Amino acid sequence: MTPAPVTAASRGMMLCHACGLLARAAPHSHDAACPRCGAHLHLRKPDSITRSWALLLTAMICYIPANLLPMMYTSSLFGSESDTIMSGVVYFWTSGEWYLALIIFIASIMVPLMKMIALMLLLVSVQMRSRWQLVQRTKLYRVVEAVGRWSMLDIYVVAIMVALVQLKALATILPGPGAIAFGAVVVLTMFAAMAFDPRLIWDPVEEQRG
Ligand SMILES: [Zn+2]
Repeated sequence: MTPAPVTAASRGMMLCHACGLLARAAPHSHDAACPRCGAHLHLRKPDSITRSWALLLTAMICYIPANLLPMMYTSSLFGSESDTIMSGVVYFWTSGEWYLALIIFIASIMVPLMKMIALMLLLVSVQMRSRWQLVQRTKLYRVVEAVGRWSMLDIYVVAIMVALVQLKALATILPGPGAIAFGAVVVLTMFAAMAFDPRLIWDPVEEQRG
């Protein structure tokens, strides 16, 4: 039989995120500081679940105007129009540029949606103190965190779309309120993922053993 793995938390120790010193945790202390470098110490990110939920719910609310409000206003010699993400997708799809339609659909509609669903799954399962698929859920968190850094891709897509249209016609393009809501979704889901402490996934295992 392999000996049970030891965690710092189970031994009442905390790791300093700044200098790496292992310090003894004072019980129930909320503002402990690293004895060597003075950085904030905590066993788990403070109020991780509450903060993550708050950011996630705000992102979900912003996702609605991001999809319903116009992403950009185009005005040319032929008149002016406003486009939402979906109408942009439909436009590229019907004009034969299906790969652009696909990129925009995945980057702007699917990826943020999947990210929010994944975060919700992580938060709900942690709150239920679930011991289901621990490794898979930890991997899921890593994916969500990694995607966060790249989901500015969506903003690039808009920029490329603007550039394409600017080149094609004598048109002026202005970003619409949908673009602001969209940027908010990207930033909020990133912060929600940062606020989530993946160690919480493994805490029920500790409790079961101890
Ligand atoms: Zn330190």
